[in-house]
Amino acid sequence: MSFSDLGLSPELLHAVEAAGYTEPTPIQAQAIPVVLMGRDVLGCAQTGTGKTAGFTLPMIEILAAGRAKARMPRSLILAPTRELAAQVAENFDKYGKNHKLTKALIIGGESMSDQISLLDRGVDVLIATPGRLLDMFERGRILLTDVKILVIDEADRMLDMGFIPDVERIVGLLPKIRQTLFFSATLGPEIRKLADAFLMNPKEITV
Ligand code: AMP
Repeated sequence: MSFSDLGLSPELLHAVEAAGYTEPTPIQAQAIPVVLMGRDVLGCAQTGTGKTAGFTLPMIEILAAGRAKARMPRSLILAPTRELAAQVAENFDKYGKNHKLTKALIIGGESMSDQISLLDRGVDVLIATPGRLLDMFERGRILLTDVKILVIDEADRMLDMGFIPDVERIVGLLPKIRQTLFFSATLGPEIRKLADAFLMNPKEITV
């Protein structure tokens, strides 16, 4: 299996090559074609498996092919911690350097006014921790009605950290017609229940 078998465009294949990756990891080989088809994904994968590129690469492809409406965010990635959100943002920069997509990292502990001015300029991708995102929403700084792709990363850690009520609120603000990618290191009953609520006919991928 090689990256060129997965349906990615030449620009992304160059980005992958520049990152020094010679072949896709198992989660990438399985998830990338499914995400490109527009299907929901329930991914059971730990950190270190390459899952971030597994959702970031096809998202860049989809977003680059579409067009923003009034520069409202078209995708939202929720991560449990600032560090994890920052890593996802780095992945977007690394793989998306040949595309003109804009992003905002909406996390606690950083200047709110800087984040607000980024949002006001309009972004394609929001990468956020749940608390700060809701805070911005309540201040009227974010509209989520144009989000077509939602990623929930490390759902089990969200559960452990008590973020599920916030995540449920946020998902309630999104369009019902969307593509959802849900990742968790474990798939216990509570996580399954959440996945059932958020996903539609997902392809389940376990690595
Ligand atoms: P993640 O599981 O997404 O946190 O990724 C773990 C690490 O694997 C990151 O440092 C990536 O840069 C790296 N990585 C992702 N995909 C590949 C690949 N196909 N080949 C080699 N390294 C990779």
